[in-house]
Amino acid sequence: MGDFVHLHVHSNYSILDAISSIDSLVTEAAQQKYSALALTDHGNMHGSFEFYKAAKKAGVKPIVGVEVYCARDTVKEPRTRDNPTDHMVILARNETGYKNLLKLVTRASLEGFNYVPRVDPDMIREHREGLIGTSACLSGGINSYAIGEKFYNRSTKTYEYTDPDYAKALAYADRLKNTFEEGCFYLEIQDHSTDTDMGLNQCRMDSQKDMVTKQRIVVETAKRISKELNIPLTVSNDVHYTKQPDWNAKDTLFAVRTISKKYDPERKLTTDSDQFYLKSKAEMIDRFRDFPEAINNTVLIAEQCDLDIAVGENHIPVFDTEGQDVIKYWRNKIREGFEAKYRPGTEYRTEAVQRVKYEIEVIESMGFVSYFLMVADFISHARGIDIPVGPGRGSAAGSIVSYCLGITEICPLEHKLIFERFLNSERISLPDIDIDFCKKRVGEVYGYAQQKYGEKNVARIATFSSMWARSLIRDVGKAYDIPKEEIDSVASSIPEGAGEFRAKIEEQAEDNELIKAYASASEVWQTIIEDAKALEGAKKAVSKHAAGFVIGDDDLTKYIPLMRPVKNKPGKKKNQVEQEVSIDTTDTMMFTQYPMDDLEELGLIKMDFLALETLTIIQDCIKLIQKYENIDVTTNVTYNNLLSPAAYSLMSLGNTLGVFQCESPGLRHLLMQIRPEQFSDVVAAIALYRPGPMDAIDEATGMTMMDKYVQNRTFKRQDESFTWEVLHPEMDDILKETYGIIIYQEQIMDICRKVCGYTYNEADKFRKAVGKKIPELVAKEKKAFMKGALGQGNMAQDDADKLFGQLETFARYGFNKSHAAAYAVLTYRTAWLKQEYPIYYMSALLNASSNKSDGIDKRKYVNDCLLNNMKVYAPDINKSELTVVPQDGGIRCNLSMIRGLDNISEKIIAERKENGEHTSFVDCITRLSKVGVNKTSLEALINSGSMDSIGNRDQMAHYGWDLLQAVRKKQKREEGFASILDDDELDIPDMSSAPTLDKKVKDSMSVKYLELYSLEDK
Ligand SMILES: [Zn+2]
Ligand SMILES: [Zn+2]
Repeated sequence: MGDFVHLHVHSNYSILDAISSIDSLVTEAAQQKYSALALTDHGNMHGSFEFYKAAKKAGVKPIVGVEVYCARDTVKEPRTRDNPTDHMVILARNETGYKNLLKLVTRASLEGFNYVPRVDPDMIREHREGLIGTSACLSGGINSYAIGEKFYNRSTKTYEYTDPDYAKALAYADRLKNTFEEGCFYLEIQDHSTDTDMGLNQCRMDSQKDMVTKQRIVVETAKRISKELNIPLTVSNDVHYTKQPDWNAKDTLFAVRTISKKYDPERKLTTDSDQFYLKSKAEMIDRFRDFPEAINNTVLIAEQCDLDIAVGENHIPVFDTEGQDVIKYWRNKIREGFEAKYRPGTEYRTEAVQRVKYEIEVIESMGFVSYFLMVADFISHARGIDIPVGPGRGSAAGSIVSYCLGITEICPLEHKLIFERFLNSERISLPDIDIDFCKKRVGEVYGYAQQKYGEKNVARIATFSSMWARSLIRDVGKAYDIPKEEIDSVASSIPEGAGEFRAKIEEQAEDNELIKAYASASEVWQTIIEDAKALEGAKKAVSKHAAGFVIGDDDLTKYIPLMRPVKNKPGKKKNQVEQEVSIDTTDTMMFTQYPMDDLEELGLIKMDFLALETLTIIQDCIKLIQKYENIDVTTNVTYNNLLSPAAYSLMSLGNTLGVFQCESPGLRHLLMQIRPEQFSDVVAAIALYRPGPMDAIDEATGMTMMDKYVQNRTFKRQDESFTWEVLHPEMDDILKETYGIIIYQEQIMDICRKVCGYTYNEADKFRKAVGKKIPELVAKEKKAFMKGALGQGNMAQDDADKLFGQLETFARYGFNKSHAAAYAVLTYRTAWLKQEYPIYYMSALLNASSNKSDGIDKRKYVNDCLLNNMKVYAPDINKSELTVVPQDGGIRCNLSMIRGLDNISEKIIAERKENGEHTSFVDCITRLSKVGVNKTSLEALINSGSMDSIGNRDQMAHYGWDLLQAVRKKQKREEGFASILDDDELDIPDMSSAPTLDKKVKDSMSVKYLELYSLEDK
C-alpha cells in the first residue's frame, strides 16, 4: 500500500469551527499508523506545542503549521474587494521555520488585524526560511480567482460575483510561488464529494453540489498551473473532526454559533459534507487515485519536516545588578535582610543561619537567583511608591530567603514552615511565587514589569473557555428547538463542578435518570446527547488569565507566539459570525497564544500578580486614622508580633464580618468555638474551615477533623494535663500546636522525616503521591513507608499500618501551612484594625464595597456597625463627603449610598466645597439645579432624608419639583437677558399647605432610598 500524510488538519483551537481535541486527532493518527501529522489551525498556534508533545509521545511525527489568513495584497490596507482575506496553509520544516511561524502569527495579530489576524505575501517573504506553503481550500487566493468570487457590495447592499479568471489565478500562483523559498510552494487539491444520504434539504444539497463543482474546477486549474509554472501538487482533506459521524456535531456547532435552529432552511452557516474527517490512507489514496504524484508529495513534504522544539531551557532574564556580580549582589541582599530580622542574640538566629545557608545553596544550584531578585524587586518597587503588597501567599512563605528578601513577611522558623514544600531540589521546576497587590494599583506593577524588562519580553497569559456538559445541553438543545422548560429541567439535573469534578456527558448519559428517560423516549434527545459528546471540551473563546504573565530574557516571539486580545465591537449583541471584533487596546500588554501549562516547559518564568481588595481596605483605613487621629499605625499593623489580645478577642466573639477570610457564618462559628488566643489558632481555623476537614470523618472516633480539633483544644484548655494518643512519640512535638490533629501538609512531611528518616524532598514526594489517591502510587509509597517506619521508626507493624492510614487521609485534606500562615497575617491585621479603630475600619470597608452595585455588602456592613453600637449617620447634603467618613464619633454615609442618585453626588459635593453649606431650601434647589439634578435624583435626595437639615421634609417632598422647575425657568431667562433682568423674581410656591406624612411612611421611604435600616438623622 502506498503512503499518505494529512497536512491540513484543524483542532478545536480553530475556535467554534473544528471540533477535534488534539488528543483525539493524535490518537486516531497513531491508530491508523500515520507516520506524521500536521496541525494547521485557523490563524493561531494555540495548540502547536500541545500537539507537538502529544504527537511525539504517540510516535507520530508532528508537523507544526497554521492555516493563516492572508491579505491578498497587503495588510497595510483593510479588507476590501481588491484586497480580500484568503486562506493559506503554512508548515514549519524545521526550527527556523517554526520560529518564523511564531513571528508571522504574532505579526498577524499585532500588525495585520482586520476582523481576523492577517499576514500578506510580503510579510511571509520576510520570514520564509524553513517554511512550506500550500494553497489551501476554496477560500485560498488562487482558488478564489479560479472559481470566481462573491463580494458584498456595501453601497448597494447586495452580493456580487466575479467571473472565474484563469489569468489572474496563474499570476497570483506565480506571486505565491516566489513568496516561498525555491520549491516550497504547493497547489493543494481537495475532494469532499459524498455519496452518503446526509438528510440535507434541497438548499443544502445545492450548496453541496456547488462546493463539489468548485473543488473540481480547482483541481483542473491546479493541473494547468502546475504544468505552466512548475508548481507541484499536494492533497489534503482539511480535517475538521476526527471521525465521520462527528460531521453532524460540527454542523450543530454552526447552529449554536449563529444562534439559529439546526433545521432552519435559511440558516447561514452549515456543513454540507460529511467528508472532513481524518480519513485513512487507503481512503485518501483511492479517492485521489488519478493523482499518485500529489499523494506521494504529502509524504515527501512530511519527510522534509523535522522539528525539535527546545524544552527545558531556562529563559529567565538575568537581573540587572548594575555591574555587580549577581551571586555577590544577591547574597548581600539576603544578608541585609537577615541582619535586620535575626539580630544577634535573638531566638531563632542560630537556626536561621543554617537554614539561610542551605536555601541559598539550593536556589543557586537550581539557577533561580535572578527569579528571586526579580520578585523582590517588584515588591520593593511597589512598596516604594506606596502600593500595598500582601504578606505572602502560597508555599513561598516557607522560604527564609523569601523572608530575608522582603518577599514574604513571616518568619518560617517561628511558624514551622518548610522550604521543601516550596522548592524541591530533586524536582527541577520553576518556583512559583504569587504576589498580592492592592486592587486599585496592580496595573502600575504590570507597567513597571514592561518598563523594566522590555515590552517585547513581557506578556499576559491567555486562557480558554470550553463547552462543558451543562451549557452544552442547553446550547445544543436550543439548536434542536427543544422547549425551554425541557432544556431547563435536563440542564439543571446535571451537577455543576469544575476541574476533575466536572460532569461528563458520557457519565450523565449512563447515570442521569432524567437524561436516560428523555434519550429512550426521543430520537432527537439521542442526537443531542451524541452531538454534546462530540462537542464536549471544544473551545469557546480565548480570554485573559486573571493574574498571570510571563517574563523572558529576550523578545518572547523567539519562544512563543503572541497576540493582542480582541474584543467585540460595542453595540447590539450579535451571533458569533456577524459579531464584529477589533483589537482590545485597553490592555497594553501582549498575550501569549500558548496556554499557561506550556510556558513553563518552554523555560519561561510565570508570575501571578493578584489584586487583593483587603490590601486596599487596610491602607485606606490607616490613612483615615492618620488624617483624623493623627496617629500612624503602619508599624502596629506591619511589624507587630501578631500578639495583640484585642484582635483575638474580636475573633473569639465571632465579630469578624469584614475581617479577611472570616466573613462566612461557618467560620465565625468555628472561631467562637476555638476562641483564638494566639496566631497559630487563627492559622488552624483557616486551614480547617474547608470542605475536606469539615467533612472528613476520623474512623476511630467518628468525628470530623474540625470537630476533633475543637474538642481536643477545649479539653486541653479546661485541663492542662489532658493528652491525646499519637502513634509515635516523635509526633508529640509535631502535633502539639494542633492538639494532636494533623492539619497541615508540613506536619505530614515532618512525621515522615522524623518517623521514617525521609529527607524533606522525599517527604514532599510522599505527600503528593499519597494525596493523589492513585492506587499504584499509594502502594509503592506504602512499601517504602512501612520499611522506614518499622526500621528507623521502630514501630510495630500494626501501628505503622494505622499511621499510614492516617497520613493517607490527611495527605488528601491537609492544607499548605505556609499559605494559611501568610494569609492569617491579613486576618490578624484586619481584625486588629476592626477592634482598635472600628469607625475607620468600617468606613474603609464601606468605601471598598460601595464599588459593588448590588448593595448587599453595604447593608451587611451597616448592620454590623449598628450591632456594634456604632453610630451610622444617614447621608446629609451638607455633611456627607464623597466617601464614607468618620464623623462625630460615628460613620457618615456618603450621598452615593442613596439609590437613584446616579453619578450626580460628586458634582453636588464639589459645588458645596466651593460655595459652602446649603442654607435654605430655595438656596439648595437653586444650586442643585445648576449641577443638573433631575426629578428622580431630587426625589431621592429629599425622601432619603439627606436634606432634612435645611427644611421640612413634607414640604420639600411636596413642592420640590415645582420649585426646581421655577428655578430652571428663571435660570433660563437669566441666560438670555442676564443684565437687563437681574431683578427677575423667582416664583416661590406657598409651602404651608403641604400634607404631613406619617412618620412610618417617611421611614419606609428613606429605607427604600437608602436600602439600609434606619440610621441616625443627626
Ligand atoms: Zn481553509
Ligand atoms: Zn482548513
